[in-house]
Amino acid sequence: MIKYALICKKAICQHEFEAWFSNSADYDQQEKARQLICPLCQSTRIEKAIMAPAIKSPKRAASTTKTTENIAAMAAKLRANISKNCEDVGDKFADEARAIHYGEKPERGIYGQARPADAKALIEEGVGIVPLPDMIVPNSKKTLN
Ligand SMILES: [Zn+2]
Repeated sequence: MIKYALICKKAICQHEFEAWFSNSADYDQQEKARQLICPLCQSTRIEKAIMAPAIKSPKRAASTTKTTENIAAMAAKLRANISKNCEDVGDKFADEARAIHYGEKPERGIYGQARPADAKALIEEGVGIVPLPDMIVPNSKKTLN
């Protein structure tokens, strides 16, 4: 058995798919007899696709870099927004979040650090907290120790 990457030559389709043949002669015979059918558009204009090497093309590598840059830019924007609109409560985060939740403190956006056990307790109490990925946490002026 031999596996070929095939491509539908219909301009609007160009679907790429794979098919198994007994041997290359079997492929040639089926192609000549127009027995190869595109699974998407049912076209019989099928050809062998050029096999792409299984390595990243420079083009793809570039687009990955761009995506990473976009994420970094987005993270920077989020970080700036949090920094601007929320109060850094440092290691008092758990206490402040709880106080706001129970109406003991004015409602406002806060950020800071919580020990995993405190974060878990807050979530269990129904306090709406969101763990932030490191890359969007503003540099805290206060630190947990
Ligand atoms: Zn097709």
